Amino acid sequence: MAVKDSELPYLRRCVELAAEALDAGDEPFGSVLVGAEGAVLAEDHNRVASGDRTRHPEFELARWSAAHLTPEQRAAATVYTSGEHCPMCAAAHAWVGLGRIVYVASSAQLTAWLTKLGVPAAPVRALPVNDIAPGVVVEGPVAELTDEVHALHVRFHRQRG
Ligand SMILES: [Zn+2]
Repeated sequence: MAVKDSELPYLRRCVELAAEALDAGDEPFGSVLVGAEGAVLAEDHNRVASGDRTRHPEFELARWSAAHLTPEQRAAATVYTSGEHCPMCAAAHAWVGLGRIVYVASSAQLTAWLTKLGVPAAPVRALPVNDIAPGVVVEGPVAELTDEVHALHVRFHRQRG
């Protein structure tokens, strides 16, 4: 299943959440959990500035869904996100049995951007979701919004100098 135009508002919301994270001094990542009927069930943005480097939005949504949704609801749900899940979040997504993932920018794109900005390598390798969770349907990147996400990362790392 390709990304439909009707799904773009969810991805735009992810970019908004990423911008909110940036305004709050955090890394610009945002994610939205959408149920089978199209309702937004939960959303979050990065919160690693708290000092806990595991506070990624995709991880929070996986744990939220485990607490609030049945296995069937989780399997039918979609996680929209500004950047492809990291291995930690891909594993959490698969362990709780969530459904499809749609991301704006891939981990490969993010890695290329951060390398160009001179950001030191992350402690976790930026593997594609399907290298971690082979059974999850994954869509992206979404070209319409990639430039916006790129701009947020440039702003974040330039601010930090
Ligand atoms: Zn993550």
